[in-house]
Amino acid sequence: MNDSVEDDEGGTLEGAGSPATAGAGDGTRAVRAGLPEPVKHEPTLPGPVFAAHFHLPGDPTGPYAYGRDENPTWTLLERAIGELEGPGRGDVETLVFASGMAAISSVLFSQLRAGDAVVLPSDGYQALPLARAQLEGYGIEVRTAPTAGDAQLEVLDGARLLWIESPSNPGLDVCDIRRLVEAAHARGALVAVDNTLATPLGQRPLDLGADFAVASGTKQLTGHGDVLLGYVAGRDTEAMAAVRRWRKIVGAIPGPMEAWLAHRSIATLQLRVERQNSSALALAQALRERPEVTGLRYPGLPDDPSHKIASQQMRRYGCVVSFTLPSRTRAERFLDALRLVDDATSFGGVRSTAERRGRWGGDAVPEGFIRLSVGAEDPADLVADVLRALDESAR
Ligand SMILES: *Cc1c(COP(=O)(O)O)cnc(C)c1O
Repeated sequence: MNDSVEDDEGGTLEGAGSPATAGAGDGTRAVRAGLPEPVKHEPTLPGPVFAAHFHLPGDPTGPYAYGRDENPTWTLLERAIGELEGPGRGDVETLVFASGMAAISSVLFSQLRAGDAVVLPSDGYQALPLARAQLEGYGIEVRTAPTAGDAQLEVLDGARLLWIESPSNPGLDVCDIRRLVEAAHARGALVAVDNTLATPLGQRPLDLGADFAVASGTKQLTGHGDVLLGYVAGRDTEAMAAVRRWRKIVGAIPGPMEAWLAHRSIATLQLRVERQNSSALALAQALRERPEVTGLRYPGLPDDPSHKIASQQMRRYGCVVSFTLPSRTRAERFLDALRLVDDATSFGGVRSTAERRGRWGGDAVPEGFIRLSVGAEDPADLVADVLRALDESAR
C-alpha cells in the first residue's frame, strides 16, 4: 500500500503513499491519518514506544536502532502529518521535532551555508529575529521584507532560500505563495512556508509549489495546549536528507509521549478547525460593529486586506483574530474582564486565549493590539463574553 523509501541507514521506512483515505474528506482523513494496518488484538493507534535503543544484533540496519534517529511512534505521526500536508502525493517525507522552532531551525541551518542569502519575513514569528542573529553570526546574509503585498519578491535575487509565513503571526497578512514560489524557483531558491496558523487542513504549501511545509504542532494541529511539537514536510529528497541529518546532530527530537499525544489529537483536527474557524469568523463579524475596535484582521472577512489572496490559496482561514483597542489600559481591562478567554500566549487550543501582544516587545504592534485565539466553546457564549468584556472595559 505505502511506497517504501530507503532511509539514510539503508533500512526501509514507509512513505506517505496513498492510503485508502487519499481522496476522502478532511474529517475522514484526519481520524484515520497515519494509522497502521489493523492487527488483531492490537490497538487502533499503538501506544507510545518508550525506547532509547532497540534490539540490534549483528550489522546495524534501520529503521529502529537508536532513539535519537527513529522511533515507531514518530513514524506513525510523521505518516499522519504527511497525509494531511500532501494527500495523494507519493513524494512527501515528514520529520517531527521537539518544537516548532526546532523544525524551523532545522531547515534554516541545514540548507544555508556561509555566503548564502536567505529572505525572511519582517513580520514573522517573534523568535525569527533570534534565528536571524544566529544566521548572520555564521556569515549568512539575511534579508527581510513584509508578508503583505508579496514584498519579499523585491529582495529575492541571489537568495538560496525564501522563508514565507502566511498568514503571518500576529498581523495576519497573507502573500501569494504560488507567485513567490515561482519567482524563487526561477532564481534557483528553495521555498519554505510556515504553515502553523493555517494548519494542513487550511492550506497546503506543497501543493502551492513550496519545497517545505514547516509548522509548530504546538498550536492548532494538536490543539489542547499541552504539547510542544514541530514538523517539516518536504518533497526534495536531498534537502530532506539534510534536515534529517540536522535533527540527528542537534537531537531536537520529540518525546514518544508527546508524539503519541499529537497523533491522538490529530484525530479531532477537522472537528476543532471547523468549529474554531467558523467561530472566529462570527467573532470577527461581531467585532467589526464595535467603534472602539480598529485594525480588525481576519483573512476570512470578505473585506479584509488578506481575503482576496487567502480565498485563492487557503481552504480555511484560521482561528486567530487580531484587533487593536484604543490604549494599553483599555486592552488590559478588556483581558481582565474576559471570563471564557484565558489571558495566555500561544493559539489554536480548544480553550480560547487572548493576549496583549505588545507585552512581549518583539512584534511591531500598537500597545492596544490584541491577538485572540478562538477555541471550541459555543460561539454564542464566546461572542457574548467578548462583547461584555468590551463594554466593561470602557467603564
Ligand atoms: C508558535 C510558532 C512557532 C514556534 O513554535 P514552537 O512550537 O513554540 O517552537 C513558529 N511559527 C509560528 C507561526 C508560531 O506561531
